[in-house]
Amino acid sequence: MKVERIEHGTVIDHILPAMAFNVLRVLRLPNDCTMSILVNTHSKKGGKKDILKFEDVELSAGQANLVALISPQATINYIVDGKLVRKFNTEAPMVVRGILTCSNPNCITNKNEPITTEFKRAPDTDQRYVCSYCERDIEDLVNHVGTKPSATRRRTRAG
Ligand code: ZN
Repeated sequence: MKVERIEHGTVIDHILPAMAFNVLRVLRLPNDCTMSILVNTHSKKGGKKDILKFEDVELSAGQANLVALISPQATINYIVDGKLVRKFNTEAPMVVRGILTCSNPNCITNKNEPITTEFKRAPDTDQRYVCSYCERDIEDLVNHVGTKPSATRRRTRAG
């Protein structure tokens, strides 16, 4: 498969196989963003990987680090004028707001209140997060990526 090189933008490489769409879910880029998505492509190191390429997009450090929630070994590459100008590994963020949902059905963030979810990284690992409201741990992060309609939608009341 041949994929065009990008002149300006961001390439996220070494995404875990079949996780590219979950990475897109945490990044929440605008719908009109031009992108290439490679799923289950062969890695030079053996095995498979996914790659995402975004044209004319430079991810913020905060956005780039959200990728680590889904794929900790992913690398971020910034391309300018067809040249790689910066490459770095993602680092799991200490605090994640509004991206992960709590698995505790009794958590206040699941009670239709206009509260943004907040999770803090557990000190001993980068793949376990603790809900700031009910202190429940979540580890299978990819299964807790979601939007909470009550937090993102403005409530309207008649009268
Ligand atoms: Zn909770």
